[in-house]
Amino acid sequence: MMATAVRAKDLFVEEARSVTISEAMHRLPLGPLRAVSVTGEHVGPCPVCGGRDRFQVNPTKNAWLCRGAAQGKDAIGLAAHVLGLDLARASDFLEACAAVSGRPVPDGHEEDPTEAAARAERLAARRRENEAKAAKRDRDANIYRERQQQLARGKWLNAQPEGLHSIYLARRLDRYARDLPVTPFLRTSMVETYWHGEDERDPRGVPVELFTGPAMVAPFVLPSGEIVGCHLTWIDLTRRPKFRPVLRDPKTPRGEALPTKKMRGTKKGGMIPLIGFYELDGLILPDPHRTRFVSGEGIENTIAAALGDGVRADTIYAAAGDLGNLAGPADPASRITHPTLKKPNRNGVPRAVFVKGAVPKPDQSPADAMQVPPWITEILLVADGDSEQVSTVSDMQRAKTRLQSGGALVDVAWPPEGMDFADILALTPHGH
Ligand SMILES: [Zn+2]
Repeated sequence: MMATAVRAKDLFVEEARSVTISEAMHRLPLGPLRAVSVTGEHVGPCPVCGGRDRFQVNPTKNAWLCRGAAQGKDAIGLAAHVLGLDLARASDFLEACAAVSGRPVPDGHEEDPTEAAARAERLAARRRENEAKAAKRDRDANIYRERQQQLARGKWLNAQPEGLHSIYLARRLDRYARDLPVTPFLRTSMVETYWHGEDERDPRGVPVELFTGPAMVAPFVLPSGEIVGCHLTWIDLTRRPKFRPVLRDPKTPRGEALPTKKMRGTKKGGMIPLIGFYELDGLILPDPHRTRFVSGEGIENTIAAALGDGVRADTIYAAAGDLGNLAGPADPASRITHPTLKKPNRNGVPRAVFVKGAVPKPDQSPADAMQVPPWITEILLVADGDSEQVSTVSDMQRAKTRLQSGGALVDVAWPPEGMDFADILALTPHGH
């Protein structure tokens, strides 16, 4: 009798061990997970720990992960995590086996009701604890974000409306003495520090001052008109052709060039107002009489497009700050493999490079990308010709699809390869 019970239990455990994550998934309370078709992964909140994307189950690789809490490569471990079982305890282990195989624990190993109650209590306590932790993380993140937005707003408010940025823009765009349009929200900060990395000799993680000099300061505004960020472009009027300083990263062996533009506070969901906006009670709002919208990634390129346009009175000109904010997030399933580009992995083996696809991520929030005023009927997107072509084409297509879902007619203007509109303008005399 004893021998049969043991044998039945061994078989039961053996069977449970052979169950794959793919088979067990349907039997376990995993909650609503999204299938990411490219990777074959299922992603979402952990049924126990919560979060947004912290929980990943990969049936193809027979692996699961709850970021920061636990992970494993078997269905029994996954069951234990989502059911709050402790695999070191014999009865919990059998319970996990039962959950993955869908069979009852063999006789002689029925769970004690007090044990079951204690387990339910442990699970509830873990849920409460994780909820409290998540709420605190959210609060801290909000406080941090608001503080960063305040600092960015202050940076713009303290900058000078008249200053070197006008000379910078004139040198970049107006070599042939065209009249530059008035861009009332661009400003200059004469003493702007470029921080880069941390001082390794200092245990407090003090940022390193790499360079200090004048910078053009532009605000980022939300559709509500609220200023939530700023965009900085460092200027060096002596350095042709871009009139920006050359900043080298001292931490790279060959001193790689660093970007001379930075953003502070919040950028996503906002835009840099250039032409066709007005100020009201500290808010910067788009002119509701203008029904056409022209936008590019950069300030210079968008102003160049405005000049090429004749600075139309029916048009709002705004920069997105970067391509991500212009295009918005992509549907992961639309990801494409770059036709030629390869990148060495950790072992030096060249691997295909993936490019974000042209399909917008469904169910985006307005905070995910730049929003166009709802009354706009015509949109012109200005591409940068000097960025990597495959990904730029995909990003611009995504921007177009995203924005025309609002009902406007959307067009994309492409400069000749290797150039942007600011370059073209610098080469064309007035009137040609
Ligand atoms: Zn978890």
